[in-house]
Amino acid sequence: MDLLEYQGKQLFARHGLRVSSGDAVTNVEDAVSVAEKVGYPVVVKAQVLIGGRGKAGGVKLAADEAETREHAQNILGMDIHGHTVRTIWIEHASDIATEYYASVLLDRSAKKPLIMFSVEGGVDIEEVAERTPEKLIKSHVDPLEGLSRAQAEQIARDGGADADVIDGVADALVALYEVWLSEDATLAEINPLIVTPEREVKALDAKVSLDGNALYRHPDNQELSDSENEDPIERRAKEEGVQYVKLDGDIGILGNGAGLVMSTLDVVAQAGGSPANFLDAGGGSDAEKIKQAVSLILANDAVKAVLFNIFGGITRCDEVAKGLIAAFGDIKPTVPFVVRLDGTNDVEGRRLLSEAALPNVHAAHTMNEAAEKVVALAAGREVQD
Ligand code: GDP
Ligand code: MN
Repeated sequence: MDLLEYQGKQLFARHGLRVSSGDAVTNVEDAVSVAEKVGYPVVVKAQVLIGGRGKAGGVKLAADEAETREHAQNILGMDIHGHTVRTIWIEHASDIATEYYASVLLDRSAKKPLIMFSVEGGVDIEEVAERTPEKLIKSHVDPLEGLSRAQAEQIARDGGADADVIDGVADALVALYEVWLSEDATLAEINPLIVTPEREVKALDAKVSLDGNALYRHPDNQELSDSENEDPIERRAKEEGVQYVKLDGDIGILGNGAGLVMSTLDVVAQAGGSPANFLDAGGGSDAEKIKQAVSLILANDAVKAVLFNIFGGITRCDEVAKGLIAAFGDIKPTVPFVVRLDGTNDVEGRRLLSEAALPNVHAAHTMNEAAEKVVALAAGREVQD
């Protein structure tokens, strides 16, 4: 579960990380009263779950009331890479001497937390990692020992932090690790972590993702899950009782049963494709459920082709076929589908589908064939049935 910047900063403050005081508001008048309270100059910041707000015009400095009004007016309602700004955060503006970068995440392959630090902050860190990897320090933490003060200082020194702020950076790293650990975060990132002209180290931005499955341990964070943070399609799926996880690719995947869906993701990846989602229609999927699932998958604009992989057990393939036919009647998908039906009533299911002669629906007999076809279709290539 991703948090907005201001929510992340609240968690930072809870653990002693320095942040500027401010408030989140949803209209211009409130923006002005927060600005008066924290004192000018202020910075007006769009609260959306996407980076690069600065470049998109979603972060503006305001010297007085008139400028605060102007920026608040412009930023509220703004579209930033497909995210509409409903909330803005107003904080007292900081003077910046230097911009650093710091983050904590779980390195799954090493089975350890990983601290990353760079003196090249305030910019896209992926670019730093690619162009000048030596400027991005990576240090694993022993999960039983935690992050010691000595290790944090070493990271700051290895990264090339200015000598007079080694202490301040180490404090920030220890606090950030504490946020990550005690809040059950999967990511805690500060970009930029600034040094002020007074040589104070503080977090100017916050990117925090919490582990939704651990939320029950954090009653204080529970309310965050009801806010605008959740992906709207994931929320709809939850309401409809469908297992749906959004991924970054362009191939929609629907299967029945978590094991089958996971192996379908693998087979698609192996065929060179990139899944857009994980959708498990569950056991006993009836026609209505399949219709819902198709509509959920297609709600994601990134989807260029869909793979239906059904292994009939309790789920009957003829029911799935009926669901698909009904869905096509209602929704009229514009992207190609590859359908593999196997197991209970598969012959009947395939017969129904071929009789319905749905436009742009391709049959496949094996998982590999299905994966290859859907990858080709997503790439805009023709396939042979
Ligand atoms: P992002 O673009 O979404 O990562 O938003 P950030 O919160 O990181 O802000 C983008 C940039 O705006 C920062 O890297 C800073 O250079 C600048 N910025 C943000 N807050 C302040 C501030 O209080 N004072 C000054 N001088 N610049 C700021
Ligand atoms: Mn940033």
